[in-house]
Amino acid sequence: MDYITRSYVERVESLEKLKADLLPLVGDDILAKSFVSQVESEIAQYGIKLSRLQSKSLDALKCIQCSRFEDKNNCKTIRLGVHICALCMRTISEMLVASEFEEKYEIPEGTIKQHATSPADPLSAFKEAGMLRKSGRNWLIHRLLWDLFYAEKYSHKAKLPK
Ligand SMILES: [Zn+2]
Repeated sequence: MDYITRSYVERVESLEKLKADLLPLVGDDILAKSFVSQVESEIAQYGIKLSRLQSKSLDALKCIQCSRFEDKNNCKTIRLGVHICALCMRTISEMLVASEFEEKYEIPEGTIKQHATSPADPLSAFKEAGMLRKSGRNWLIHRLLWDLFYAEKYSHKAKLPK
């Protein structure tokens, strides 16, 4: 998303927040009511500006997952009007089943489960961040755990010539 679009979107978000804060006051406060309509017309104006910008830059698509506008070359269209950006696709595709992870990085089978269920819980921070979780009988693990945790222990293997 370019700078102008981003600043408009941020402005609309803060106006929506302001409107939400004002709405409960409308019944009691006559000024609140007129302030809300001011905010609403300002939001509408930004809406017009944004649609003008977007018709100029048809190459930007809004990601269904992160709501960012991203160049269409960096998006995948799931169906008409539904796009997902490369960054989100990457984040999703990098969740691996533990056995895939172990195979990919050539670490002993069962290592992830052993660490994930260990009383010492060395991976607890990753579990809390949703980067490691149990799914049915499997553990799902994000590829980044290689960089952040396993590479240090097992990188001698990764450096072996293929
Ligand atoms: Zn996205």
